[in-house]
Amino acid sequence: MDAAIDFETAWDAFARRDRAFDGRFVVAVRTTGIYCKPSCAARRPRREHVDFLADSSAARAAGYRACRRCLPDSVARDRAAVIRAATLLDAAEPPALTMLAAAVDYAPHHFHRLFRRLTGVTPAALARTLRADRAAEALRRGDGVTAAIYKAGYGAPSRFYAEAARLGMTPRAFAEGGAGETIGWTVLPAPPGALLLARTARGWCRFAFEAGADDVVALFPAATLLAEDAATRAHAERLVARAAATDGDASLPLPLRRLAFRALLHELAAHD
Ligand SMILES: [Zn+2]
Repeated sequence: MDAAIDFETAWDAFARRDRAFDGRFVVAVRTTGIYCKPSCAARRPRREHVDFLADSSAARAAGYRACRRCLPDSVARDRAAVIRAATLLDAAEPPALTMLAAAVDYAPHHFHRLFRRLTGVTPAALARTLRADRAAEALRRGDGVTAAIYKAGYGAPSRFYAEAARLGMTPRAFAEGGAGETIGWTVLPAPPGALLLARTARGWCRFAFEAGADDVVALFPAATLLAEDAATRAHAERLVARAAATDGDASLPLPLRRLAFRALLHELAAHD
């Protein structure tokens, strides 16, 4: 089992059928010889009849059979499909849902729900964030606004400008290191790690994990920077609290969790 999970934590998660722990361990029941996901709907066995094991293969090696009700072996497959889909979405022309689901061998509607449950966002929202990251990176490299738009995969400038609000300033100001902007920033704890949030009067211009002053100074050398600005912090606390409430599955790889969390922040900020 995941070294971070002790028997008490595992038992509590199992007792409340917590889906967030699916994929982090399996529950082997000695009296029936069956293993389950923590969220299995079946009646709870007595505590002394339960073993918590790392995964399905450990349970099978110990002679247990998979529960036919909760299908514990599907957890690893679901997670692998979501991870693979996330890599496919990082393309100038990311696949639409039907193609994406077909590529990982799931039905579209089911896969959409699964993706959202594990990451906290839709495939389209993740693709938007990947595209915006590519555009921001191109602007930062000095590619110029028009080149950045096409390199990132927007296809048409109108699509880029419709989403440019997530730069928190005009693309030109962003390319010029935040020239003319006043940017407040703060760092807060979030479920996937310490998160830097920065904003202008127009909106958020940077979400980055494990980042601090160096990051903001490097990205916005021409802006007036306000470290730990109180108004920014109050905004940031509200936004992070809302995102934390719909965060995805903690068993996903950390880079994907962080990417998905940033996508979630952008989605929430856009509908603020
Ligand atoms: Zn079960």
